[in-house]
Amino acid sequence: MRSTPMAIRNLWNRRTFLGSASVLAGMALHARRVLGFTKVSTAPTGIPEKLTGFGSTGNVYEELGVTTVINGQGTMTYLGGSLPRPEVEAVMALGAQHFVPIVELEQAAGKRIVELLKLPADYDAIVTCGAAAGMQSGLAGILTGNNPKFIEQLPDLTGMKSEVIIQKSHRNGFDHQLRATGVKLVEVETREDVKRSINGKTAMMHFSNFANAAGQIKVDDWVTLARENQIPAFNDAAADTPPVSHLWDYANMGYDLIAFSGGKAIRGPQCAGLLIGKKEFIANALLNNSPHEDTLGRGMKVGKEEIVGMVKALECYLNEDHSALEKEWWRRLDSISAEITRVPGVATSFNVPDVANHVPHMRIFWDPRKLSLLPHEAASALRNGKPSIVLSSSESGLGMNSFMLKPGEEKIIVTQLVQLFKAHAV
Ligand SMILES: *Cc1c(COP(=O)(O)O)cnc(C)c1O
Repeated sequence: MRSTPMAIRNLWNRRTFLGSASVLAGMALHARRVLGFTKVSTAPTGIPEKLTGFGSTGNVYEELGVTTVINGQGTMTYLGGSLPRPEVEAVMALGAQHFVPIVELEQAAGKRIVELLKLPADYDAIVTCGAAAGMQSGLAGILTGNNPKFIEQLPDLTGMKSEVIIQKSHRNGFDHQLRATGVKLVEVETREDVKRSINGKTAMMHFSNFANAAGQIKVDDWVTLARENQIPAFNDAAADTPPVSHLWDYANMGYDLIAFSGGKAIRGPQCAGLLIGKKEFIANALLNNSPHEDTLGRGMKVGKEEIVGMVKALECYLNEDHSALEKEWWRRLDSISAEITRVPGVATSFNVPDVANHVPHMRIFWDPRKLSLLPHEAASALRNGKPSIVLSSSESGLGMNSFMLKPGEEKIIVTQLVQLFKAHAV
């Protein structure tokens, strides 16, 4: 915010829930001031003076007929990830004002990301359209090098390495992005399995950071094993900020490539992510990604707006008061807990996952003799309520976190929960 023009900064300070519109309108105002225009309905920049969606409510989704939800579940892609920072929206609007060579922009963004994160000298970065895209293009680059014939040829791996080693417990839906390159995943459990599995066809050793506790080989041992055998190591750390230090920890640990989501806790553009890694691997990942045509990654286009928005989001995230933020997340959960546990039979407990979504979580459960309501019934009643609230449910109760709530939404959750519980009191 420090280097922001005054006009925009004031608009941000006055930002409300409908604030995206005010930020963009602010951009238009700023652009007109800079260009010396005062009384035009549309600035030469193309940003309309008065922003409207498909009506005048400010909620473009409801205007299209889709009910928006209060998100107590966290950074879920199926709900739209996270809400980008106003600074990010403003920078994206500025980014939309010019044409620019995308490859040069990626290289410049990478240079800035390396500086911001103070990464080792042999590291570079690019902005991808998400962590999943980073996994695919990162691996593609390892497989093809800078060989144009190989780049065109993927996912036909003739002449290239063709295997990726992964711990069995680290398999998840996102390894589809690895398989899309044509490789075969070789599952292992022990160090001995790894040693036995490495051969001339081994291209990479993949680690899924959130599964650290589940696998026998931990994050630091995995990269050591990879280095001993001169195999590139990848860490999918998509949802692994906070803590902010994870953004450089895995590079310092020696991982060759690391992917982060931009549209989760960093609150960058929804369709953005970071691929950080050794210079050569990053250059080859970019060769396999949009804007380069006839590549596997051409379908994972990153826009100029996402690239600058991602860099801005990172800058803001690094400058944020992380302990104040965490305190606020706890305050929200505590305030919900204090009210709902007054309903006879209702109790709460708290935890913070070690890795991935390392933020305060609350479990809400109740005595079935006092409340005749199953957890999944509670979740769907909240989901179908007005306003609609999304919490997770399990056999034992409801689950929620508070880091994606907008200010004040914790009060709505309290009202709805108390009402629901009271209606089902035995
Ligand atoms: C969210 C997530 C991804 C995908 O990230 P995108 O930025 O949405 O592409 C990959 N791996 C893990 C573990 C994730 O949590």
